[in-house]
Amino acid sequence: MDQSPPVAAEEPGSPVLAAFKQYEHFSKCLLDAYAVVDMTGKVLKCNALLTQLIGIKPKQILKADSIANLLTLKITDKLLQISDLLNVMGPTRFDEVTGSANGSDVTLNLIIGVYPFLHEGKNLGGFILLRDVTAETKLQDKYIDKATQSITDNLTGLFNRNYFAEYLKGQVSTLESFPANAAQRIVSVVMMDIDFFKKINDVYGHQAGDFVLSNTGELMRKCFRKTDIVARYGGEEFLAILPGTDLQGAAVASDKLRQAIEAFRFETGGKVVPVTISSGVAQIEIGMETGEGAIARADAALYFSKQSGRNRVSVHEDGAPKAPKFGPPAKD
Ligand code: GH3
Ligand code: MG
Ligand code: MG
Repeated sequence: MDQSPPVAAEEPGSPVLAAFKQYEHFSKCLLDAYAVVDMTGKVLKCNALLTQLIGIKPKQILKADSIANLLTLKITDKLLQISDLLNVMGPTRFDEVTGSANGSDVTLNLIIGVYPFLHEGKNLGGFILLRDVTAETKLQDKYIDKATQSITDNLTGLFNRNYFAEYLKGQVSTLESFPANAAQRIVSVVMMDIDFFKKINDVYGHQAGDFVLSNTGELMRKCFRKTDIVARYGGEEFLAILPGTDLQGAAVASDKLRQAIEAFRFETGGKVVPVTISSGVAQIEIGMETGEGAIARADAALYFSKQSGRNRVSVHEDGAPKAPKFGPPAKD
């Protein structure tokens, strides 16, 4: 609890302070910084927590023309003006505000609450509560970073195999609960493998191989939809889950990617590395097979692509791997 007495400017006749008077006793038990300001942003009263927050003595706070001269507030890089805060018609909350006290490099994470003092429909000023959530935000960011790291493949930035397996299992079990003819039940998986990758490593070096892997990952992220889950399955193998996409759609999407990779200039160390991928596609037969079962079928289709000459897309349909009857044209 803030035991220090509030600090007030000598302005007994201020209508804002008069409006604040009836709430003043509540402010004594506040755990956050606050300022009572007029419409110009001039601080008429504040507590010791505000002086702590912005690192300026109370007298200086009260002397300043506006709180905006002491503390710069932003929401996603857009300046939050004092008028933005005060021209509200009722209690208003501003989340994810960053603040920096003038002359300080420290960025504060704040949640701001404003209670406007209105008189005959006109704003006189307001009570501004500033909650310092810097420590919590840092901790939260750290957890988010850790959580993201644990599901991401470092080299490609795609999801890793563990996350993919977990997601697939969850997705299939969710879709099993939908009625047999529900559109949501349509989902496909694609297995992809870089052609002759060992040769790329051997001819251009391991670093060039890594360069090819990370750029291939980026092309995959760009080519597939935001809602698709794309993962590095291991080595130079990749997997994708395409929700709401049938076998035909998945084959078309896979061929778009195949073409994009074939056309991309993988330039490293002054050399252009020719890269192609082969893919296998299967639509998951929800209720009839597991996700792993569908991946095994996509893998069989991928093997078929490799056997048929690489740089192509094959599908697994009616119990066998084959060139798609639609979408990508069969290659020679
Ligand atoms: P195919 O067309 O039949 O797929 O032939 P391939 O040479 O691509 O397949 P193979 O499985 O023979 O070789 C895969 C190579 O990928 C062997 C391995 O050293 C290499 N590799 C696996 N992980 C990495 C990696 O993280 N970085 C690099 N540079 N190479 C890797
Ligand atoms: Mg390969
Ligand atoms: Mg392989």
